[in-house]
Amino acid sequence: MKAQDISREKSAELFEKAKKYFPGGVNSPVRAFKSVYGTPLFIERGDKAHLWDADGNEFIDFCCSWGPLILGHNNPEIREAVQAQLSKGLSFGAPTALENELAELIISNNKYVEKIRFVSSGTEAVMSAIRLARGYTKRDKIVKFEGCYHGHSDSLLVKAGSGLVTFGETSSAGVPKAFADETIVIGLNDKAALEQVFVDFKDQIAAVIIEGVPANNGLLIQDKEYIQFLRDITTANGSLLIFDEVITGFRLGFEGAAKYYDIQPDILTYGKIIGGGMPVGAYGASSEIMGHISPDGGVYQAGTLSGNPVAMAAGIAALSILAQPGFYEKQEQTTLAFVEEIRAFITEKNLEVKIFTIGSIFWFAFTSLEKIQSADQIDPASMEKYKIMHRELLNRGIYFGPSGYEVGFISSAHTAEDLQTAIAAIKEALLVAFS
Ligand SMILES: *Cc1c(COP(=O)(O)O)cnc(C)c1O
Repeated sequence: MKAQDISREKSAELFEKAKKYFPGGVNSPVRAFKSVYGTPLFIERGDKAHLWDADGNEFIDFCCSWGPLILGHNNPEIREAVQAQLSKGLSFGAPTALENELAELIISNNKYVEKIRFVSSGTEAVMSAIRLARGYTKRDKIVKFEGCYHGHSDSLLVKAGSGLVTFGETSSAGVPKAFADETIVIGLNDKAALEQVFVDFKDQIAAVIIEGVPANNGLLIQDKEYIQFLRDITTANGSLLIFDEVITGFRLGFEGAAKYYDIQPDILTYGKIIGGGMPVGAYGASSEIMGHISPDGGVYQAGTLSGNPVAMAAGIAALSILAQPGFYEKQEQTTLAFVEEIRAFITEKNLEVKIFTIGSIFWFAFTSLEKIQSADQIDPASMEKYKIMHRELLNRGIYFGPSGYEVGFISSAHTAEDLQTAIAAIKEALLVAFS
């Protein structure tokens, strides 16, 4: 039942041209389709849950720009808010009332944050949060977990070395070893390793950083008990706990993973959804901790386009919709019904694949394990099956992220019909992957 390959003539042509201008033909590596079949699709437009590429192929989109588009493409409220702002100017480099408005919307609906600072990307938010933690604690070392992604700043492009607790190794050329030496990387869901870190590096750890729910290397849903352990051990050692909520913020709910676990971290970072599709990031904490940021405090952080009025207008429009009662409950129910229907098929056909899900995030894991909570439980060989599934889905008009380590998202623009179409295609694609 292998479907006929879609035409990628125009996309292939554009990709050849792009390779002349950009390394690998792209402006962000995973877009290059290295882990799946064929050339990347060049997108022309999106509307609601649908995408159209340069060859005129239409897809139902489950990548949603990697998460920001929880309201789908071309949302009318966001579009109108952006259009209204455009005629007033694109950037002033001075404060605007729009920043107050977005901040108020966030803070009045989020009990975990008292003050925030807007930046222009998730990377920038996390990089600044790390500097804040170091400035606040007057310590240098940070702890991160294998399988969590926090953007591409130097301190965080570090992977685990060999051994239970070691200094990290850089995961990118160009990151000084001295930086990697300040980052300790351990496995998720491993209490003993973290306890050992706090023995080996007593009074040196500025912060432990974790993705609210790790969703950049599969979907590694942690137990509340483990997150509580992180809270307790950081508090006991005078270190800060940072939740990187760039994916989970405004996705699991207005209060993100902090609310899901009901645990107060010391610093939170946001991105993706917060800008309604425009480039916005933010970090927040208590007024006391945020008081250390310049110009109030000694931790420097700035941005020419920070709090950009057009981006703020998009964020306000998006978050105003998300703040309406019942929005997240509906998203979660829709996603669960979608997942359950595919799970029933998987059981019936006895296929070795699981779907993990939280909120409106889902992840297909080709595994026999009932739970996957750390990066080392993912078998790289299983990605071959994803590769086939991805090709078969594209050929059936369904757009998933171009890597088996990426999660999928369901937006409020996905209709019941979209989801039924997708379910039928996914069933067929799974059968091809297992044939
Ligand atoms: C996407 C992401 C980032 C990086 O955000 P950018 O806007 O791509 O710089 C950081 N942390 C997490 C958890 C993310 O998902």
